[in-house]
Amino acid sequence: MSASALAQPSLTTRLKSGLDAPICLTWELTYACNLQCVHCLSSSGQRDERELNTAEAKHVLDELRRMQVFYINIGGGEPMVRRDFFELIEYAVTPRDGADGIGVKFSTNGAFIDEANARRLAAMDYLDIQISIDGVDAATNDAVRGNGSYAMARRAMDNLSAANFGPFKISVVATRHNVSQLDQFKALADSYGAQLRLTRLRPSGRGVDTWDDLHPTQAQQREIYDWLMLHGENVLTGDSFFHLNALGDALPGLNMCGAGRVVCLIDPVGDVYACPFVIHGDFRAGNLRDSGGFSRIWRESDLFTSLREPQSAGACASCGAFDACQGGCMAAKFFTGVPLDGPDPECVIGNGVDSGTTPVAIALKPRPAADHSKPTSRVQ
Ligand code: SF4
Ligand code: SF4
Repeated sequence: MSASALAQPSLTTRLKSGLDAPICLTWELTYACNLQCVHCLSSSGQRDERELNTAEAKHVLDELRRMQVFYINIGGGEPMVRRDFFELIEYAVTPRDGADGIGVKFSTNGAFIDEANARRLAAMDYLDIQISIDGVDAATNDAVRGNGSYAMARRAMDNLSAANFGPFKISVVATRHNVSQLDQFKALADSYGAQLRLTRLRPSGRGVDTWDDLHPTQAQQREIYDWLMLHGENVLTGDSFFHLNALGDALPGLNMCGAGRVVCLIDPVGDVYACPFVIHGDFRAGNLRDSGGFSRIWRESDLFTSLREPQSAGACASCGAFDACQGGCMAAKFFTGVPLDGPDPECVIGNGVDSGTTPVAIALKPRPAADHSKPTSRVQ
């Protein structure tokens, strides 16, 4: 290796100091949702009357295009509830003003993917779809996502498949009740020619109140790690499981917290947060309607600037696994009442706040910024 190569900072070090534009930008288009999943990270249900309108949303897309944002993750709520959903994603993916289109990956519960919409989606370029399920059978899934939601998601998958959409994603949040189904989730994805995406449960949104019942046990965390070591190359996980790296070799995926560095969230009313799992005033960097828009927030906000500074290892400093685990997920710590430089609540070597062993006064835990619970059953 040359001396100049040795002097280069590692990729992780460069990512930690932030980039000109986010790699992983999530944009929740609406708080409205036809379901009311018990772990919903944004406590969705009802539309917020302050949500960005069509013109404002297109203005944001223009700005992201100027910043050369490569792709965006669109979510909600249920994004297809919005009447202008197709108008907005078609606006995003279409090249204009000499610039490429912005790739769109959107997450949906599948309610609105009927045969006609599946054909319309299949005809679009630069589009990826994630359909969420949390069990391989209706009993397991519907206990978390609501009655009828499993059948609804499978119908959407069938419609996409019949429309030759191509390899969509099946997105699963790993819970205590579905870790035993990992092989079956993979088989289901394979049966559609789809790709499995496995996400860590965080105690965010309504998940604050269901975390104790749903988060995997220590033994299940080992099970997830072992399974991902065998299958992880073909399973998308984002930054979900780097806290498990303390168990051995590093898993595939982003092995750092990207909040405010390469990751951020735009919520339906234009507030920008450090990541989708920290919808709370402490992690709100600004609002798109403020002067300077998104680029000023991303490049200059005090919050994002401070998150890009080297972070203290705090209570994890003496842990031999710190380089592998990095102290875990900021959001998981925050909403379980753990200091941000403390160990992840699911620390795999036993230093976490495992419910029942280390009492944390629930009243002292931070609460999410807003609760939009109550389902929306029709297109607005
Ligand atoms: S706070 Fe957690 S979920 Fe958010 S970017 Fe960091 S590691 Fe990921
Ligand atoms: S003590 Fe901290 S660094 Fe060590 S494994 Fe636990 S969370 Fe990770």
